[in-house]
Amino acid sequence: MKQVSYWHDTAPAFTGAEQGSLPAQADAVVIGGGFTGLSAALALARRGASVVVLEADRVISGASGRNGGHVNNGTSVDFGSLAERLGLDHARAIYRAYDAAVDTVERIVREEQITCAFRRGGKIKLAAKPQHYEKIARGFEILHREADPDTDLVPPKNTRQEVGSDRFHGGLLYKKSAQMHMGQFGAGLATAAKRNGARIYENAAVTGLKRLSGARHLVTTGRGGVTANQVLIATGPSMRGPFFYFRRRVIPIGSFIIATEPLSAAQLDSIMPTRRTATTTLNIGNYFRVAPDDRLIFGGRARFALSSPTSDLKSGQILEATLHETFPQLGKVRIDYCWGGIIDLTADRLPRAGEHNGLFYAMGFSGHGAQMSVHMGQQMAAVMGGNASANPLRNLPWPAIFGHFGPPWFMPFVGAWFRYKDKIS
Ligand SMILES: Cc1cc2nc3c(=O)[nH]c(=O)nc-3n(C[C@H](O)[C@H](O)[C@H](O)COP(=O)(O)OP(=O)(O)OC[C@H]3O[C@@H](n4cnc5c(N)ncnc54)[C@H](O)[C@@H]3O)c2cc1C
Repeated sequence: MKQVSYWHDTAPAFTGAEQGSLPAQADAVVIGGGFTGLSAALALARRGASVVVLEADRVISGASGRNGGHVNNGTSVDFGSLAERLGLDHARAIYRAYDAAVDTVERIVREEQITCAFRRGGKIKLAAKPQHYEKIARGFEILHREADPDTDLVPPKNTRQEVGSDRFHGGLLYKKSAQMHMGQFGAGLATAAKRNGARIYENAAVTGLKRLSGARHLVTTGRGGVTANQVLIATGPSMRGPFFYFRRRVIPIGSFIIATEPLSAAQLDSIMPTRRTATTTLNIGNYFRVAPDDRLIFGGRARFALSSPTSDLKSGQILEATLHETFPQLGKVRIDYCWGGIIDLTADRLPRAGEHNGLFYAMGFSGHGAQMSVHMGQQMAAVMGGNASANPLRNLPWPAIFGHFGPPWFMPFVGAWFRYKDKIS
């Protein structure tokens, strides 16, 4: 079994990073070479700006190259609760931003001719308990009427038409959702940004930020410094660098994935006949889909721990047991890949983007950001070009999380709370 991301292992790595020291000056510096940063760099460079991307590691080495491969529409919080909290119009605007985000990914794939198995196959959200289906059905009416007519209920008796497992009790179908190969997309996005003129520096962790005036900053790395008229922070759940303001608002939390050996068509038909992306309703639930080469990619929170080689292995064992309980008909299948990543969770599971003290930022995608990171990169490039209303998240307040200063010391308590909630729900 390989302890690397399946997406990294099965896509050509990006080879266009710059060598040598940084330029003295750029119109825009983007910190972070994940989907947010690369997408912003592409849009800024297309506009004619001189753009420098500073990535601490390799491009898409963070969540963007380690995720479940789902490009789903819909918000992570259910639409009814969102409407109750924000009002119908605001909730609808945010929901529509996720629709637009899937469209943005599709557009970039088409315009930049990125081969990445992008496919609009839909998503099924599976009820893990009969009463969860009742809750889904209650929420469906407002969702379907006010925000997304491209949704459908799948009643419990039809579950097996979607997923071959006795563990689920109906679900909710989101027809606009998609899937793709994240490694191929990420390498293609970086190549497209470079082709349009962006300069990408890997192994260039930002260690210092000094405001010179307005939005103008001196950005320092181990490879030298660069002065930029504008800076975009696209660092996800960064635990390094001068980002204390953001660290107080984003909780880093692990999520883990295994990928099986390639399965036969008969095996795949018996577990996922529709080949959609699938998620489950539990707080400590699972997400899965079929990979382009017919593996089952099966992820979940598994444990409340950060990702590390040991932690990934422990979580992988839990996921393997859950996979076999979910699909006993597979028998003993070989697990070829096991990896983990870190999610940038906000307190309300909605991302945030805007400007703080002359720094632009987009982050907090809360485990549901493969599409929104790409979209928000494009939108924040427009904001940096003077169009503040391009930011669909501009009206969300973002207070610091009480008692949170970086390391997520409270995670075991949150884990215990989520387990309890899953038990009684
Ligand atoms: C295991 C897992 C499964 C997921 N599954 C899905 C899914 O199926 N569908 C979905 O929609 N979303 C999913 N997500 C979430 C999704 O992958 C992210 O929301 C999205 O990729 C975020 O992109 P990003 O560019 O903002 O962050 P990242 O991809 O994390 O990129 C941030 C980059 O910033 C760099 N960086 C950090 N600090 C510094 C510094 N000081 N200097 C320079 N660079 C720095 C990091 O090295 C990193 O490369 C998942 C996430 C994880 C971890």
